[in-house]
Amino acid sequence: QAKRVSRSSFQFFDDGLERALQRRLQTIRELRYSVERQCLKLFYQPQVTLASGEVFGVEALVRWQRSAQELVPPLSFIPAAEDSGLIVAMGEWILREACRQQQLWTRQTGRRLRMAVNVSMRQLKDPDFVPMLRGVLQETSVDPSMLELEVTESLMMEDTLGLSRVLQQVREMGTGVAIDDFGTGYSSLSHLQRLPIDRLKIDRAFITGLTERAEDQVIAALVINMGHLLHLRVIAEGVETPAQREQLLQMGCDDAQGYLFGRPMPAEDLAAKLLL
Ligand code: C2E
Ligand code: MG
Ligand code: MG
Ligand code: MG
Repeated sequence: QAKRVSRSSFQFFDDGLERALQRRLQTIRELRYSVERQCLKLFYQPQVTLASGEVFGVEALVRWQRSAQELVPPLSFIPAAEDSGLIVAMGEWILREACRQQQLWTRQTGRRLRMAVNVSMRQLKDPDFVPMLRGVLQETSVDPSMLELEVTESLMMEDTLGLSRVLQQVREMGTGVAIDDFGTGYSSLSHLQRLPIDRLKIDRAFITGLTERAEDQVIAALVINMGHLLHLRVIAEGVETPAQREQLLQMGCDDAQGYLFGRPMPAEDLAAKLLL
């Protein structure tokens, strides 16, 4: 039994790896072309204040329109974009498009929604990141405080000093910073306390089991209380049921995002659902 498993994994390594590499290169080539041709689409998912249910903002989530029929989810191409460095150009497009949309909604409807945009470590390490951000905000006339950047916790451990400096500059412009997928990484308390941030986003992994698993309840409660002690706002991601909403409300969580309040959707759908 064991022998058969190890032989088949060798086989996988031999042609599997070769094929995986080829596929990856092909993906990067296509993706580069797609950024130039603007074949990326942003979907928007509402973020609500738990107590009132009011939508205060949206998170922009990228999709790749690879063909007329195929809309590729971000986890299938963002890693390749990060490895190849393409994420820098792609991220700039995403930021500009999200800001353009925010400004359009503000002008068309008078409703100012805060726009949350995911950024990769690779983007933050780019020496031109801060000037690029400043340029995009000016060019699109977006109030910097109506933008928030989401950075994934697991990526924040590397290069703390350089990262702090960049995030500090972002916040001096008035733009917010959230730590995404919080609870899955290894941020120490002292590290957290030093990072210039505004918000913690509790990872969906702990929300899914919130009403059944005592361990998940403990972690969610810890994140909420710790966030508040550090004067941060706390948002829960992946809220799907009214029971989860109730539980989070009782635990003092500030905000929430998830299918219960709305799925990620094209800009027109979001406008139709919320603004008109
Ligand atoms: P994330 O930033 O943590 O985004 C939340 C993900 O959870 C999104 O998946 C969203 O569609 C999904 N989600 C939201 N509510 C629920 C729910 O109630 N239940 C369930 N099961 N899922 C829910 P998506 O759009 O596939 O994005 C996946 C990840 O890809 C994002 O995780 C983010 O890390 C990355 N990503 C997305 N857009 C961008 C981008 O523009 N730039 C970068 N660098 N990364 C991005
Ligand atoms: Mg996010
Ligand atoms: Mg997240
Ligand atoms: Mg997540």
